[in-house]
Amino acid sequence: MTKRLFDTDSHLLEFEARVLDVRERDGGVWVLLDQTAFAPEAGGQPSDIGTLGGANVLDVREDGEELWHLVDKEIVSNETVCCKIDYFRRLRHLQNHTGEHIVTGLFHREYGLNNVGFHLGHEDVTLDLDGCIEMSTLRHIEHLANVAVAENRKVNILYPSDGELATLSYRAKGEIAGRVRLVEIEGLDLCACCVPHVKYTGEVGGIRLLSAMRYKGGTRIHMKCGLDAIAHSNIQDDRESELSQLLSLPPERLVEGVRKMADDLGVAKYRIVQMKRERICSLIDSFETKTEQVCLFESELEVNELRVLATGIAEKTGQLCAAFSGDDVGGYRFVLVDPLAFAETAARFRAAFLPKGGGKPPVLQGTVEATEQNLRAFFEIEHA
Ligand SMILES: [Zn+2]
Repeated sequence: MTKRLFDTDSHLLEFEARVLDVRERDGGVWVLLDQTAFAPEAGGQPSDIGTLGGANVLDVREDGEELWHLVDKEIVSNETVCCKIDYFRRLRHLQNHTGEHIVTGLFHREYGLNNVGFHLGHEDVTLDLDGCIEMSTLRHIEHLANVAVAENRKVNILYPSDGELATLSYRAKGEIAGRVRLVEIEGLDLCACCVPHVKYTGEVGGIRLLSAMRYKGGTRIHMKCGLDAIAHSNIQDDRESELSQLLSLPPERLVEGVRKMADDLGVAKYRIVQMKRERICSLIDSFETKTEQVCLFESELEVNELRVLATGIAEKTGQLCAAFSGDDVGGYRFVLVDPLAFAETAARFRAAFLPKGGGKPPVLQGTVEATEQNLRAFFEIEHA
């Protein structure tokens, strides 16, 4: 059994311990200590890291009542080693995990919702609730959570007897095996939990609830606490300042500026569609008096626009019309219309260029990788 020093003192960052056992497993060296302040991977968050003797601790895992430390160097059994926890990783875990308890405690108190999932990853922190919420609810809870941080409420770790436990009302994700460890945020929340917590809520530093989305019939909330929240704000500030420079607008006018750009873009796109239509109509009209087959290349036309063009010309001339748009490097979109010998032309075209696409007689359409020169040559030689 490993004595869990972190259970009662989350601020213990340096300690000495005796090496009870060293084992090689899955290509790594795992060390068992008589006591440890390294919290293992548990409760939705990764383990602490740090140093043990002269080695780096990369991971810590629970195996029954034993805690095994994955290290990057051989460690001698039976010796006493000095150990040090990586402070910033621990602080990040403390701030986000107690922050999550504050938030879920408030959701439970205010709306009767339960926490059904928590994940603290390297980048992202999420918590899952068993009900749906609105954005206004998120802001309300964020406000109350930050008030609880500012009030610097005491956080207690409790190990109640079975008798005491029976009288307590506390939150828990499921049945708990063995002794129940409760984390109490005074006057706010009581929750079963196995990981280290801050001693006072003020240490959480601040809580940001970033977004809420529907998830498995409930809600997934993305959140950041303390130093993570500050880092997130810095990234947002940098992004805002870059946008501000790009659009030559002060930050408070960015939304207005982007909205205007979107409107202008919509008008421009509409104008382009109109101009393309006019161009297609005038091209079709230009074939009014001709009766030979046509192969033409137009820039920036989509397949549906090429179809209008090729069908219109084929109807005017009564002959084959092939229309292409694209370039030799990226390939061409095409529409081929042959009112006279579609099956034969389509078969020859397919054999020559292996185009992708389909269509119904007398239309073949899709994309093709070929050069303009080869495509023009095909229609001139094969059908001249
Ligand atoms: Zn917890």
